[in-house]
Amino acid sequence: MFEQDISEILIGEDELKDKVKELGRIITRDYAGKEPVLIGVLKGAIMFISDLIRYIDLPITIDFMAISSYGASTRSSGVVKIIKDLDHSIQDKDVIIIEDIIDSGLTLSYLRKNLMERGPRSIKICTLLDKPERRMTDVKVDYVGFTIPDKFVVGYGLDYAEKYRNLPYIGVLKPEIYND
Ligand code: 5GP
Repeated sequence: MFEQDISEILIGEDELKDKVKELGRIITRDYAGKEPVLIGVLKGAIMFISDLIRYIDLPITIDFMAISSYGASTRSSGVVKIIKDLDHSIQDKDVIIIEDIIDSGLTLSYLRKNLMERGPRSIKICTLLDKPERRMTDVKVDYVGFTIPDKFVVGYGLDYAEKYRNLPYIGVLKPEIYND
């Protein structure tokens, strides 16, 4: 369906599954005896969080936040707006922010600061993908699935102009798609 728009499959389905399982096991171990709240950042993290929670063997809860990101551009503006806030308080909770990708880090450093003001016991960050080359802040990331090069990727929840989220793999979008 979208194959003609993808130049390369960067991370295939099996590799994604193995990594998500591994992250689930690590989080289960690190949070033993706790009841963490996983906060999914909409919409990009939908597939990652829904797969990840299958492999977390703890009494977790989940909540979601939607924040404005690129729109139909491929670069972060640094201007972040909350479109949907959490349904529940995170006061005294152990929070894990679940992100699809960290690029400049501007979105996450805003989010982390915003959530810190709500009095959680702890906050950690878990991202499926990390593009460290383009980091503009020193936000600390606790769990990283894959470190990837500076290429614009789609699939497994990640979009370009709201499309491609349903691809089961992470693929590199052909530049001519977003340059025209
Ligand atoms: P940051 O604020 O770290 O620059 O941007 C983070 C957000 O930008 C991500 O949550 C994601 O929505 C978007 N983003 C950054 N890089 C990519 C990419 O390669 N592909 C897609 N689809 N979105 C990206």
